[in-house]
Amino acid sequence: MSAQVIDGKSIAKSVRQEVAAATQQLLTATGIVPHLAAILVGNDPASEVYVRNKERACAAVGLKSTVHRLSAETTQNELLALIELLNRDKEVHGILVQLPLPQQLDSMSILDAVLPSKDVDAFHPENTGLMLQGRPRFLPCTPAGIMKMLQVCGIQTVGRHAVVIGRSDIVGKPMAALLVQKGVDATVTICHSRTVDISRVCRGADILIAAVGIPEFVKGDMIKPGAVAIDVGINRVGERLVGDIDYAAASQVASAITPVPGGVGPMTIAMLLQNTLTSAKLAAGS
Ligand code: NAP
Repeated sequence: MSAQVIDGKSIAKSVRQEVAAATQQLLTATGIVPHLAAILVGNDPASEVYVRNKERACAAVGLKSTVHRLSAETTQNELLALIELLNRDKEVHGILVQLPLPQQLDSMSILDAVLPSKDVDAFHPENTGLMLQGRPRFLPCTPAGIMKMLQVCGIQTVGRHAVVIGRSDIVGKPMAALLVQKGVDATVTICHSRTVDISRVCRGADILIAAVGIPEFVKGDMIKPGAVAIDVGINRVGERLVGDIDYAAASQVASAITPVPGGVGPMTIAMLLQNTLTSAKLAAGS
């Protein structure tokens, strides 16, 4: 059996089309153009690519974007001062601090400084709390993109066992939190580096979500036949991008699987655009 390929590219395209149409409507009704301000500190090549992709994606749906490029030697106070400026700027609706930040910067207090109503990555503790309580302002982009893929593909979550590998604040924890919300109703297990017999736990999953950061960590024999396999990982191996799931083996066992690239990645950017639009609408009171 060969698994259904969950086409993140095409699902993301339809989300972007919806965002483009709603952005046009907002402009017509209020004259407001949603504006995302990205902050890039240093010259990490992968971060450069991510920020450029986000700029392009904004332009394609009619959102304004500006990129603030700061040197690798930027101090905590300099970065906080820029965030404060953007927090106060009424024409900026979303603020994105590209991670990772250089070592001299304290990422957590930097992210805490972003005004929650402009925190379109949904990393601020206020937004995390609202999400946990099931009354989100913004949803974190990668987990929200995965939920959208499950919904569009008609993948049932109610009563099913979802196993999330990884407990980062950006992916693993919020992913588990969304899966356990009322209405989604999965039974959720979170695995991490101290989990004992992870293969056995994964084999119990109806929906397996891998966010580990280790190329092809999940082998075919860790997947229950017919399970849904969602691969968050983006790992560069030589010239290739490889996920956290052994795609060739897993696609022989799973009923549906996301490819890397072209799976979760495009959804993450699409959800960022959606959050920026939501922020502008909230600011406009519409
Ligand atoms: P992270 O912060 O490094 O977290 C990795 C998680 O994996 C940690 O919780 C860690 O456990 C767990 N882990 C590490 N080794 C393990 C092992 N041997 N067994 C079980 N668990 C293990 O990474 P992240 O930010 O969540 O990202 C994960 C991957 O997703 C990366 O490849 C990243 O590039 C990718 N990513 C993709 C997107 C996208 O849009 N597609 C977005 C974000 C991230 P401990 O907590 O115990 O250390």
